[in-house]
Amino acid sequence: MKKYFLLCSLLLVIGCQTYKQKSPNIVFFLVDDHAFKALSAYEGSLIETPNLDRIANNGMRFDAACVTNAICAPSRTVILTGTHSHINGVVDNGSRFDSTQPTFPLLMQEAGYQTALIGKWHLKSNPVGFDYWDILIGQGQYYAPEFMKSVNGSEPVKRILEGYCTDLTTDLTIDWLGEKRNKDKPFLLLCHHKAPHRSWMPGPNQLELFADTEFPEPETLFDDWKGRASPASTQEMTISDHMYLWHDLMVPPEEGTTLEGPDKWAHANVDRMSDSQRTAWDETFDPENDAFIKSDLKGDDLTRWKYQRYMKNYLRCIKGIDENVGRLLDYLEENDLNENTIVVYMSDQGFFLGEHGWYDKRFMYEPCLRIPLLISWPGITDKGSNTEALVQNLDLAQTILAMAGIDAPTRMQGESLVPILKGETQTCRDALYYHYYEFPGVHNVQRHEGVRTNQYKIIHYYEIDEWELFDFKTDPTEMKNLYNDPQYADIQNDLKRKLDSLKIKYEVPRT
Ligand code: CA
Repeated sequence: MKKYFLLCSLLLVIGCQTYKQKSPNIVFFLVDDHAFKALSAYEGSLIETPNLDRIANNGMRFDAACVTNAICAPSRTVILTGTHSHINGVVDNGSRFDSTQPTFPLLMQEAGYQTALIGKWHLKSNPVGFDYWDILIGQGQYYAPEFMKSVNGSEPVKRILEGYCTDLTTDLTIDWLGEKRNKDKPFLLLCHHKAPHRSWMPGPNQLELFADTEFPEPETLFDDWKGRASPASTQEMTISDHMYLWHDLMVPPEEGTTLEGPDKWAHANVDRMSDSQRTAWDETFDPENDAFIKSDLKGDDLTRWKYQRYMKNYLRCIKGIDENVGRLLDYLEENDLNENTIVVYMSDQGFFLGEHGWYDKRFMYEPCLRIPLLISWPGITDKGSNTEALVQNLDLAQTILAMAGIDAPTRMQGESLVPILKGETQTCRDALYYHYYEFPGVHNVQRHEGVRTNQYKIIHYYEIDEWELFDFKTDPTEMKNLYNDPQYADIQNDLKRKLDSLKIKYEVPRT
């Protein structure tokens, strides 16, 4: 009997060790406002991102990845909980996350993973489900950001770190991997970058990039929004009228200028820099700013100048991400972690890079509805593969749990993408549900909900009862509203039926 007990114990230990060896590590990059056309693994990219492309080349690129609600805190909560905004309660950026809800990090922690979160959090309540977290406070700052840290549930400690946010987030992440990781456990490591969020302040290593580059203008830069529902005209997110020279475009005001909007606090962004950082900053921007002020641009010429300045700084922020993701991938390779570590790269939503004359997000239009999503799963996912499957940020929680062999709670509303990653299927859903809530609010975008298939989308601005229908295969820039076009009557009715059925499926309260 004693021998039998010892044998069972031995088998149990061996079994546990085998399980441990097989449980993959997961590095999850979440970046803020990264448009898919600023990532060279995707067609038509404005820049080269060789390190982000390494993830795509080593795994799968998702070509139809979308969000449920194109705004920061809501998307982050959808990703964590695998539930739509009306279920998890974070419907807009003013909502506080109820951290008693089940999330994939909490479930993985309970299942024996060591869990860590470093970088942007932005959910008002403190993180739950992490052995270690070190987060930016609120939106965080690009230069000399303030971080707040807690280890194994300790009282959070705040401190300001000297340096640039994207670099520091990577330094902290690599430090955790090297010094704080329990090497007997599989790990889940969330590396959440603030960049390239507004106000698009580049890091010291990227300041000199694109000095002589002229980026192509989107064909809809001077859109007049005719034919679309009224919210396209009443928004307040145009490059021409709603982008601030000081806060958004790094042109300091002349003395005595009355500052409006975000320009009132823009000085705080550069006041955080060290003397050497500020010198490098001024050497980059001063000559161009002087020339700009002398040129006294007006009208479309002024919009064109703003677009170029916006693109340069936004894309410099992305290049900072690319360099830093490369540093972390190098670390994984150099420390024999790459073979058993899944890498996920995604953005919390897309972003307008001048399409329709806009910056920001919120609308259910393609530039911000779609996100870059890259997943490498060594030994499982074919290298350099891609999929057209219609997937969402809603799916990540269940996907990551499934990768780790952990059952997802029935409350979660997404789909595991594991069968797609294994090459067993190319489909996920035939239509997705979208719902944006933050109105009234900054940028003045009306509430709307809608459905997108792999060719069409229907959008309902339900508080003003206006509709849009687009065929984005034949009209990729979504300029032609086909709602009530008799030729599309059957498609319109079908999309409305899908909207109704998805609202029932996801238990959406009546609007
Ligand atoms: Ca965001």
